[in-house]
Amino acid sequence: MKLEEATKNMLVAEAYEAQRNAYVPYSDFCVGAALLAKNGTVYRGCNIENASFSPTNCAERTAFFKAVSEGVTEFEAIAIVGNKKGKEGDFCAPCGVCRQVMAEFCDPDEFQIILGAGEKTSVYTLREILPMGFTNDNLKSSE
Ligand SMILES: [Zn+2]
Repeated sequence: MKLEEATKNMLVAEAYEAQRNAYVPYSDFCVGAALLAKNGTVYRGCNIENASFSPTNCAERTAFFKAVSEGVTEFEAIAIVGNKKGKEGDFCAPCGVCRQVMAEFCDPDEFQIILGAGEKTSVYTLREILPMGFTNDNLKSSE
């Protein structure tokens, strides 16, 4: 399903709002995400760093985990923005771990990933950015 332009722009604006809360004392790289659930709710997420590094969480997963922890597991799209604090950035694609989390909950051909950078946007399906992903279908096929 193709997203309407207004929906896409709203999600990118929400991602920029989420980015304002990024907790990034180590990298200064601020990421914001806005996840649109099928019920119409938008869940915002930011990246949250940690002195011990490995507990650091990405903006995308923050948004997903907020939604799932509230019982929401069906999603249409996510917008992502990222840049060094105070600098203009280019497109910020989700890391591999976040793509894997998306694969747990989202249809690979329906779910839309919107990358935003200023006025520019670029939209991908999950299958485009995670070809041959490992899913629960793999577990079933080996039973
Ligand atoms: Zn990530």
